[in-house]
Amino acid sequence: MQFPRYRVLPPTSRLILVVTLLNMPPLHGAVRLLQQTKDALTLEGAKIVVDYGKTVTFTARFEATFPTEHVTILLKGHNEDTLHVEEIPVNADGTIEFIYNAEHDPLPPFGTMLIQARVDLEGGRMLISEPIPFAYNDSRFPWQTISQDDLNMHWYAGEASFAAEALKAAVSGLESIRSFFPITSTEPIHIYVYSNPVDLQDALAMGGETWAAGHTPPGLDAILAAIEPGPNQSFEMNTEIPHELAHWVLFRTLREGYHRQPVWLLEGMASMAELDTPPDHASALQAAHRTGTLLPFTDLCASFPTDAGGAFLAYAQSRSFVTYIRKTYGDAVLLRLTRAYHNRGILDGTSCAVGTIEALGMPLGQLDENWRKSLALQEYDPNEVHNLAPFIAVMALILIVPLWGLLEQTSKRRNHGRGPT
Ligand SMILES: [Zn+2]
Repeated sequence: MQFPRYRVLPPTSRLILVVTLLNMPPLHGAVRLLQQTKDALTLEGAKIVVDYGKTVTFTARFEATFPTEHVTILLKGHNEDTLHVEEIPVNADGTIEFIYNAEHDPLPPFGTMLIQARVDLEGGRMLISEPIPFAYNDSRFPWQTISQDDLNMHWYAGEASFAAEALKAAVSGLESIRSFFPITSTEPIHIYVYSNPVDLQDALAMGGETWAAGHTPPGLDAILAAIEPGPNQSFEMNTEIPHELAHWVLFRTLREGYHRQPVWLLEGMASMAELDTPPDHASALQAAHRTGTLLPFTDLCASFPTDAGGAFLAYAQSRSFVTYIRKTYGDAVLLRLTRAYHNRGILDGTSCAVGTIEALGMPLGQLDENWRKSLALQEYDPNEVHNLAPFIAVMALILIVPLWGLLEQTSKRRNHGRGPT
C-alpha cells in the first residue's frame, strides 16, 4: 500500500500539551514535562506491505536534519492501546525499514492498524509522525469488491453474479434484523466471502482468532463467511450472511452487554434474521417435542450442546423460541429483553432464569412451558420428517474444526496476551 507524503501535525499540538498540563495537579516532574515538546516528523515515500499472517513491512525515509541513529516505531489497532513499540536503526541515507513478525504475535484479522514513527531528541524534544492507517487484510487471495451504501462485499471465487447475490442477501439481511432490532452502528460493513471453511478458519487462526461454532468473532472489524459457488450458494448466502450480520450488529449495539446475553437469545435472534429456514428445523422440533426430548432453555444459557445432534436441535429451538417471543410480545420486546439481561450484570444460571421477568413478566421456565404449548398447537406432518444425518454431519464439521483450531491457537493467544473479542 503506497501512501503519499505525510501531512505535518497541526500547529495546535504543542498548545494542547500545555493546556492539558495546566489542568493537572502539581507534579514533581512537571517542570521536565513542560520542557518536552512534540513536533511533526515528516517522512517521504512511506510504504506498508502486508504479508498476512507473516509480516508487516514498513519502509520510509526522512531528512535527518537532527542527530539520531535510531527511530522508535509504534504499532497499534484503531482506537486501541499501543500493541508494539520497537526501536530500529536509521540507515545512512535516512531510510528506515521495520518488519513486524505477525506470525509470532498475531494482529487482529481484518482490522485497521496504525503505525507511527517517533524520534526522541536531547532536551526532551520529541518528533512524531502522524499515524498511518493500513488494513490488515488477508492478502493470500485476489479479493474483488462490490458495494451498496455502507455494505461492502469482498470475494475471490465465483463470477460477479455470485457477489451480487451475496450483496443482495446482506441488504435483505439488514432489513430483516432492523425489523426486530435497531441498528445504531454507522460503521461501514465489510463482508469477506471465502470459498470454503478451511480458508476461512486458516485466516482467523493466522490472526490469532478461532472460528468458534462456525462464527466470526463478533468483535472483528469485518464479517467472514464461507460459501462455495455452486448449487447451494443461494441457501448458504441467505442463511449464513444474515446470521453473521446479526451477530455483528448485536455486538456493536450491546457492546459489553453482548456477553451478558444467554446463548439461546443471541443465536435465536441471529437465526431469526436468516432469510431461509433450514428444511429440517420444523421436523426436528416436532420429533423432539413428541418424544419429550426438547432441551430446557435454562440449559442453553451459557452454551449449546457440543454433540452435533444436540447443537442442531438447540439452534432449531432457539430460533422457534425467539420467534414465539417476538410474535407474542411484539417487535420491540427483544431490545427490552437484551437491556434487561445487560442490566443484570454477569450472566449466570440464576440471572438467566429470572432475566425474562423484567421484560416479559415471567421467569424463563414459565416462558419455556408456554412455548412448548404453542408447539403442540401446530399441525404435525409426519411426511416432513427427513433424514437429519446430512445436517448433523454439517454441525459436526462446524463444531470439530474450531475445536481443532482452538487447541492449536491456545498457546499463541496466551503469548500474545489479548483476550477474546
Ligand atoms: Zn450464531
